[in-house]
Amino acid sequence: MSVAITIDNVVKRFGKDTIINGLSVDVRPGEFFTLLGPSGCGKTTLLRMIIGFNSIEGGTIKIDDQIINDIPTHLRNMGMVFQNYAIFPHMSVKDNVAFGLKNRKVAKEKMNALVDEILETVKIAHLKDRMPTQLSGGQQQRVALARAIVIHPQVLLMDEPLSNLDAKLRVEMRNAIKIIQQKIGITTVYVTHDQVEAMTVADRIVVLKDGELQQIAAPDTIYRHPANTFVAGFIGAPSMNILKARFNRDCICIGKAVLPVPELWRQVIGQRRDLLLGIRPEHCRLSEDAAVQGSITYVENTGNQRTVELQLESGENISVTVSDRNADVQNSSGICFSWDDVSLFDVTSGRNIG
Ligand code: ATP
Repeated sequence: MSVAITIDNVVKRFGKDTIINGLSVDVRPGEFFTLLGPSGCGKTTLLRMIIGFNSIEGGTIKIDDQIINDIPTHLRNMGMVFQNYAIFPHMSVKDNVAFGLKNRKVAKEKMNALVDEILETVKIAHLKDRMPTQLSGGQQQRVALARAIVIHPQVLLMDEPLSNLDAKLRVEMRNAIKIIQQKIGITTVYVTHDQVEAMTVADRIVVLKDGELQQIAAPDTIYRHPANTFVAGFIGAPSMNILKARFNRDCICIGKAVLPVPELWRQVIGQRRDLLLGIRPEHCRLSEDAAVQGSITYVENTGNQRTVELQLESGENISVTVSDRNADVQNSSGICFSWDDVSLFDVTSGRNIG
């Protein structure tokens, strides 16, 4: 049976610094839950609070109905995978994986069976007699994963497990981790600052900034309906364009361009004058005769698509992704978009009001 993790109003202080100030998050049983945010926002700190490496200065963390604040790490029944693998260099693959079982005094026959089974699951059974120095980074991370899950923990915690791998291996391993997690159905909390990684593996993502929750939702919701301008800017590469706009009677002005606004939008905008519009680069189209005009400053070709950077007449910069290989980007200096694809943010709070 998978367990739920309830993080309720938790506080973390290091000396006088408050890193997390009253954060509440629920992780559902069997869920692949990702903590995402920029460097220093408190992701690792929270993960270490869950496993018990960090003290908790306020609030509670529960596994199902049990408060675990004061339960020592070795009694929490959690497995953890670290960025630097942290496997024992002097032990073979199978001894590394058996380590936790030996500590728990599991009988030899049962131990061997469990080790064999888990090595099959993470697809390194053929490497079981090798030493860590004879393994690639991806294989070492599979050993670390096998070692964490062989003890059948209630919770699997992973702290940027793919950061030390090259780009191709990262993709391969993130798919492998997702498949293994689904197979064993273990409640998993995964830390990353890589939004693509979070989007691809997570059932739900919590986006943190300075220890504060910005949004908690499924990846698709976070992508399509970012809760505020911070999330909008953090998710997606290139990130969402945020443009200053002014609402005037029935129109929105972006620089000199005046665009009529659908009725529904007028109700949402209400009494506001100044607004921020969020438009994903892939939802913008280049067009010669569009109302919003600018000049192209840069074109980046990534093979499958081009990203065109424009400076608008208002002075703001905007990115447009073009996937049509034959499109003539050099002679198109205007952009157009559909209102259906636009997010609307309050200019003061940055909150999504659309
Ligand atoms: P990264 O992606 O860079 O690992 P993170 O989001 O995981 O970042 P944390 O490692 O949780 O960030 O750190 C959050 C803040 O807490 C940082 O400002 C960090 O300097 C501070 N911090 C972390 N551990 C300690 C500690 N033991 N003592 C004092 N400050 C700490």
